[in-house]
Amino acid sequence: MSYATTFLKQCPSCGRRLEIRVQYLGRNVQCTHCGSIFTASNSPANPLPPQDTLVDQAIRDAEIYLASVEEINQVGLAWREQHPQPIAE
Ligand SMILES: [Zn+2]
Repeated sequence: MSYATTFLKQCPSCGRRLEIRVQYLGRNVQCTHCGSIFTASNSPANPLPPQDTLVDQAIRDAEIYLASVEEINQVGLAWREQHPQPIAE
């Protein structure tokens, strides 16, 4: 696995993708195509995976878990209906 020493950033002026060295992160760089100066930031050209996706996944997992618990409860109820239990006194 190669270590990335550059990242892609879209020029806000001409829209071209520029390869910028990571050392220049947060510093002003000049576009080689149109000459406009802008701050080299690692977004939004290479955005991090959105946190919402992870939250959605966790909610989906929880819903699947709850659905399975409900199913087990329903099976248990059906079993009790078919097999009446003596009432404790
Ligand atoms: Zn440009």
